[in-house]
Amino acid sequence: MKTLYACKNCHIITDKPECPICGTPTSKKWRGYVVIFDPTRSMIAQKMSITKPGEYALKVR
Ligand SMILES: [Zn+2]
Repeated sequence: MKTLYACKNCHIITDKPECPICGTPTSKKWRGYVVIFDPTRSMIAQKMSITKPGEYALKVR
């Protein structure tokens, strides 16, 4: 099983040590898994400033 990381900046979940979107180093310490399908209609996406659909972590340390 692959280790999943979450970006400290944009919170996207990835299996890479760096964020594929913003290039920020990712963290293994994250909690809360959310899938955003339509950021413009999602309260969570707006709160987290998410603009692209995808899988995100609610909290990243
Ligand atoms: Zn990022």
